[in-house]
Amino acid sequence: MTNPYLAGAAGRCPRCGEGVLFDGFLKVAPACDACGAAFTKADSGDGPAVFIILIAGFLMAFGAMFHMIAFNPPIWVLLVLWLPLTVIVVLGLLRPMKGLMVAAQFAQNASQAGGDDVRK
Ligand SMILES: [Zn+2]
Repeated sequence: MTNPYLAGAAGRCPRCGEGVLFDGFLKVAPACDACGAAFTKADSGDGPAVFIILIAGFLMAFGAMFHMIAFNPPIWVLLVLWLPLTVIVVLGLLRPMKGLMVAAQFAQNASQAGGDDVRK
């Protein structure tokens, strides 16, 4: 049995763990190319961004402040080092975090209110 959370974080289908979850860098594929699971209902919305802001914000702010206090480098060293590092960390976290959130929705059978959830 595939762990849907690990598979999602790795960019794999949360149901079978074989097919790819993404169709591009962050665009979720319409369905799994291995087992046919539909990803159309999964919409992570702002979820990944919130967690990345909290996680990367803490790591980068703490790291830069620790660096500044411990080594007292010139300000340009801080900018040249920590700004690109922040971009790299954020871009590195985006895909796994979005995959994790889509997989969590898929595993919990969650969907957006509306469409066929609403009784007519
Ligand atoms: Zn699949």
